[in-house]
Amino acid sequence: MKTIAVIGSTGSIGRKVLDIVRKHPEKFRVGVLAARQNAELLLKQVKEFKPRLVCLFEKERLRGCEASFRKEGCRVAAGAEGLVEASAWPQADQVIFSLVGAVGLAPIFRAIQAGKNVAIANKEPLVMAGELLIEEARKRNVQVLPIDSEHSGLWQCLEGRRMETVQKLVLTSSGGPFRGRKSFSGVTVKEALRHPKWRMGPKITIDSATLMNKGLEVIEASNLFSLDVDRIEVLIHPEAVVHALVEFVDGSHLAQMAITDMRIPIQYAMSFPERLNHIYPSLDLVKVKTLHFEKPDHRRFPCLALGYEAKRRGGTMPAVLNGANETAVAAFLEGKISFLGISRTLERVMHSHRVKARPSLADILEADRWSRETATQSL
Ligand code: MG
Repeated sequence: MKTIAVIGSTGSIGRKVLDIVRKHPEKFRVGVLAARQNAELLLKQVKEFKPRLVCLFEKERLRGCEASFRKEGCRVAAGAEGLVEASAWPQADQVIFSLVGAVGLAPIFRAIQAGKNVAIANKEPLVMAGELLIEEARKRNVQVLPIDSEHSGLWQCLEGRRMETVQKLVLTSSGGPFRGRKSFSGVTVKEALRHPKWRMGPKITIDSATLMNKGLEVIEASNLFSLDVDRIEVLIHPEAVVHALVEFVDGSHLAQMAITDMRIPIQYAMSFPERLNHIYPSLDLVKVKTLHFEKPDHRRFPCLALGYEAKRRGGTMPAVLNGANETAVAAFLEGKISFLGISRTLERVMHSHRVKARPSLADILEADRWSRETATQSL
């Protein structure tokens, strides 16, 4: 029986984590539930899963309902300190992070420092400070397991292999809603939110439309597997059956394939090294029939190239790219800038940043703050 802490339990990933707990109650016990602001759903989850500690990041949302949480007999925490407490809770065997955006970074760092095995669904912390997190995890001998589907695929292909035998890593992208689109002027928020393959939260869905999601994922993969970013390739693969490939030095390729259901990578991160029965339909290759692959068009999707550039420049630059992107995507969703304005904002902010090499966590958080401020001013 594994005791888990779910940090970000009311979002799209967190709810799927709890689905898996429901399906395998003999395997998992929920010790901690933390959410950003959805107090109502969090309370329902507390009633069902009876955690020992509950945390709401946005303190004001507790107003009026704190008593209801207390009635459930669990400790109630709030704010940034509460989130850190929830992430480093002593009785947890594994902490699963799925908070959208950069807010999860400090809690993940503290969980690793507390010797917790972590599973990370939101890529932003691994983009901003992946090298630092992996280094800290190695020092403390704790697992950092990816939930991002492509990285879970890479990890499954790489399990038990030596990195010296790896030639390159390949991440696939369905191409997003605008794969065949020639002109991006006049793109509406509604169009950009219509993803052909995956149903996800709004931030990551916009990132999929700009291909920034893949740009962030090459940084994430480079950090997770400590491999030069130029040995990580992206292929557009509209069927979204192959999620990742590893090419070995002898020319052999291993691929990970599955239907597009996030419960697969989530469940594997939770059950590792075991594999549990699944609760979703199987992949039917006969129905799929053909698989297509093509090179992405860096000219039409400049955000992908920006991901490579940020990682090559290294240091604080990935955090700057990430912070500016969160700001620009929020502005696009609010109708303040156009779709094309997203990549233009990122270019401007990256251009005016002076990279700090070998940054500390404090340097990274400062670069994040700076990039958001600079991005907001330049919208
Ligand atoms: Mg992904």
